[in-house]
Amino acid sequence: MRRLPKRGAYDRETVYKILDEALVCHVGFVVDGQPFVIPTGFGRKDGTLYLHGSAASRMLGEAAKGIPVCVTVTLLDALVLARSAFHHSMNYRSVMILGTAQEVANEEEKCEALRIFTEHAVPGRWNEIRQPTAQEMKGTSVLALDLEEVSAKIRTGFPIDDDADYALPIWAGIVPLKLTPAAPIADPKLMHPLEPPEHARNYKR
Ligand SMILES: Cc1cc2nc3c(=O)[nH]c(=O)nc-3n(C[C@H](O)[C@H](O)[C@H](O)COP(=O)(O)OP(=O)(O)OC[C@H]3O[C@@H](n4cnc5c(N)ncnc54)[C@H](O)[C@@H]3O)c2cc1C
Repeated sequence: MRRLPKRGAYDRETVYKILDEALVCHVGFVVDGQPFVIPTGFGRKDGTLYLHGSAASRMLGEAAKGIPVCVTVTLLDALVLARSAFHHSMNYRSVMILGTAQEVANEEEKCEALRIFTEHAVPGRWNEIRQPTAQEMKGTSVLALDLEEVSAKIRTGFPIDDDADYALPIWAGIVPLKLTPAAPIADPKLMHPLEPPEHARNYKR
């Protein structure tokens, strides 16, 4: 990390905390000279990141060939409003992972990865839902990416204006941003008079 290296963090705890809060990552890879960046869900267990999708997915098919991938995750915490245009910024926590992914072929590990993936998005969900059938497992690819080459970058706090600009009569500060769940809405096709489960009523990251 060359620019603003003080914002860089390489310890696992910091990286894992950011990954565990995020819902979406972006997977970058190059096919025949054409870069693609695909938004997708993910899960993490220890030092492994799991991706999943249709067995027909180009993203998963290409990544499973062992080509280099770059995965990023971003949490946006605030807009930073400075006195000058130049010093406007955002508070964020982000992670970048470089590596090559492997397809998870072992059925047991694949099912465990799908559990981790589901629990990552909605903790408490897996044990309440129908488990995947053999056919569904066959139609699903799971990739594992080692969290070896990873970095985190974090910006916090208020704007950092030029000294001379602090005297200007311009409001400056931050606008915090939060991902806040609203009340769950039942599927109109719900055939039983069920209340939303705890993990939906009190969803939080
Ligand atoms: C929040 C979020 C979560 C997702 N989670 C998953 C997941 O867990 N697993 C999964 O397999 N997919 C997920 N997707 C969908 C994913 O982004 C891809 O669309 C999907 O994986 C198909 O990828 P592919 O490489 O096979 O695309 P292809 O079908 O090969 O793409 C063909 C073309 O479609 C367009 N395209 C593809 N994806 C997108 C996109 N997301 N937005 C705009 N244009 C697109 C591009 O032009 C691309 O060249 C998620 C998407 C979002 C936004």
